Amino acid sequence: MRIGGFVPFTSIDYPGELAAVVFCQGCPWRCGYCHNPHLLPARGSELLDWRALLKILEQRRGLLDAVVFSGGEPTLQGSLPEAMRQVKALGFKVGLHTAGCYPRRLERLLPLVDWVGLDIKDLPPHYPALTGVPGSGERAWKGLELVCASGIPFEVRTTLGPHLPEERLSQIETVLKEKRVPRHRLQPLNPLPATGEGPPPGGGKQR
Ligand code: SF4
Repeated sequence: MRIGGFVPFTSIDYPGELAAVVFCQGCPWRCGYCHNPHLLPARGSELLDWRALLKILEQRRGLLDAVVFSGGEPTLQGSLPEAMRQVKALGFKVGLHTAGCYPRRLERLLPLVDWVGLDIKDLPPHYPALTGVPGSGERAWKGLELVCASGIPFEVRTTLGPHLPEERLSQIETVLKEKRVPRHRLQPLNPLPATGEGPPPGGGKQR
């Protein structure tokens, strides 16, 4: 695993559970408001050692409930399923923050996951203006279909800002209600961090 950051303790990144957050390096999208720009290149300059992190997690058995894989985009990395299995073998629940960049990989990962935080950034046609990637909206919304069908607890998160007019937000909310999405969290657009800043304290993530 290529790990760009680690938060050893948070109560806000996995609802109702005390968790550690592993920030996975790399994301194929380039959202203008991304709060973790240092995590976007597939190969970061200051990576943490996964085996060392596993040792730290091992020492926290009984103190933490869950480990959340965030990013970046965790599903970018082919070694994520094995990392999730290792975390589960230590007795932790597995959380996943994803923007749905890779729906097929997400589908294969879901049996390993106990909770998902999925970003739905906009209606599909408006994604490329935000992410810079054609077809990204269809991918994210396919991810939503998969998560809805999985029966796994999840929430959908949407970042507010000038890129998302109220009318479109309301259309998104309508569709999510139709799909019986259990929880839709609206995240305010925070000021971007200075270049090189690490993951935000507490592990909060703005995608
Ligand atoms: S906001 Fe999320 S999906 Fe967008 S570039 Fe940043 S990490 Fe990638």
